[in-house]
Amino acid sequence: MSDESRLDTGPAKRRLRFAIIGAGMSGILSGIKLDAAGDHDYTIYEKADRLGGTWRENTYPGIACDIPSHLYSYSFEPNPDWSHLYAPGAEIQAYFEGVARRYGVEAHMRFGAEIARCEFRGGRWQLETTRGERDQADVVIAATGVLHHPYIPVIDGLDRFEGACFHSARWDHGVGLDGRRVGVVGTGSTGVQIVSALVARVAQLVLFQRTPQWIAPQENPPYSPEQQAEFRRTPALMCDLHHDMSRVLAESFSNAAVDANSPQMQLLEEICRANLESNVSDPALREKLRPNYRAACKRLVVSPDFYQAIQKPNAALVTEAIDRVEARGVRTRDGRLHELDVLVLATGFRADRFVRPMQVIGRGGTRLDDVWAQRPFAYLSISIPGFPNLFMLNGPNGPVGNFSLIEVAELQIAYILQLVDELRAGRCREISPSDAATATFDAARVAAAKQTVWMTGCRSWYLDDRGIPAVWPWTFDRFREEMAAPKLDAYERAG
Ligand code: NAP
Repeated sequence: MSDESRLDTGPAKRRLRFAIIGAGMSGILSGIKLDAAGDHDYTIYEKADRLGGTWRENTYPGIACDIPSHLYSYSFEPNPDWSHLYAPGAEIQAYFEGVARRYGVEAHMRFGAEIARCEFRGGRWQLETTRGERDQADVVIAATGVLHHPYIPVIDGLDRFEGACFHSARWDHGVGLDGRRVGVVGTGSTGVQIVSALVARVAQLVLFQRTPQWIAPQENPPYSPEQQAEFRRTPALMCDLHHDMSRVLAESFSNAAVDANSPQMQLLEEICRANLESNVSDPALREKLRPNYRAACKRLVVSPDFYQAIQKPNAALVTEAIDRVEARGVRTRDGRLHELDVLVLATGFRADRFVRPMQVIGRGGTRLDDVWAQRPFAYLSISIPGFPNLFMLNGPNGPVGNFSLIEVAELQIAYILQLVDELRAGRCREISPSDAATATFDAARVAAAKQTVWMTGCRSWYLDDRGIPAVWPWTFDRFREEMAAPKLDAYERAG
């Protein structure tokens, strides 16, 4: 190395070791961004045998992302090959595999390595996998996902069903579906996609609906080979699309959902109502499908064809409550037995888990399970007082639901790396938000949450144990502003 280039490197920076937990969208992103920052000493721990997170785990028929594909991509890695405006799940999984390979982050991944325990001791994080392997890191990035612990409903007799029964996120591809009688419990985004995909294949499809959903119409045109070639020739087109889609999503939805009476929310309701009125011909069925709460109160469902699917002669919508499951099918409270070969639980996820069941022990032996005993929380969705140098991507209280979580994670990792700069530059050895800043943030968040459309009288996974939306209650623009640069006076810096 010449003397000049030595001068260029500036003062020596502290070398840090990083542990990233989770090899899904945000774990891959973290690896890419660490490499770009010159931090190559990291390991990505992944409990499964493959990367991909949500898109590895969810392989149910009909799975697709309802965020447009050119927005649901890393901003720095546009993909000219997206087949449709909204990409199917397998294509998204292949995209992440390709990106991880191209950026060399796959080489940092340890598969089959579930971190069971993570303790801040001696100024570093001590990690231990379920198999007893150990590691140490200066910084932990928890990229553990949001909706990945299936919620299995408590239904009497579920274990006595003699057909095949599985959760939507644990799809058993060994079970034949063609020509069989299939029951689906749940009418969220997942249940709706499954119904649309299966109805043409099965002999009979029975959808057990506890609560009707507002459904916004969706068109999903394919990208032609000519359009894809154009994207390949001119990648800037995809960057423009990403930018425009982000702006449209924010203006039409994300910024508006935080004011239940905004014109956009009212328009959305009209669109959903018109979708129901014009696409469901039988008045009795239409009334069964009509929600009695505000559109977008629950996570909005979009579908090009659900209403058509549920009107097929072999489809049935059951609104009687489930009484129990029996060997041959589902018995509803009216005493009727719905005989089934396969029962799919599209019943959602435990949205309050985040990094758990990993045991996380912070400064002075503080257990995250105790700190989160009432409910999970985090300063700006990223970090927790008393847990230094631990940062979460898509952690509690962040923008989830109708946002591109990729966009969210990109903003978060840029913010986290600015905090990491404090460690790298040797300005401190430990950084965590103060109790006061976290309490102020949380109080403001709760106050704002009460004005949102998510609190207008429905049950959803957005709500915490008090019935208050646990998600980012302000505009996406505000999130972007907050993530631009950390306010360092909100942090305690030690060492
Ligand atoms: P979900 O939205 O939480 O829906 C769960 C469904 O199961 C609800 O209809 C719920 O009824 C029903 N349910 C739960 N327990 C029940 C019981 N004991 N008896 C009868 N019904 C019961 O779950 P999800 O559909 O898997 O979606 C979760 C989230 O994943 C979505 O909100 C979305 O954010 C994401 N997702 C996104 C896409 C996408 O395209 N981007 C696709 C799929 C999922 P109630 O409504 O009465 O509670």
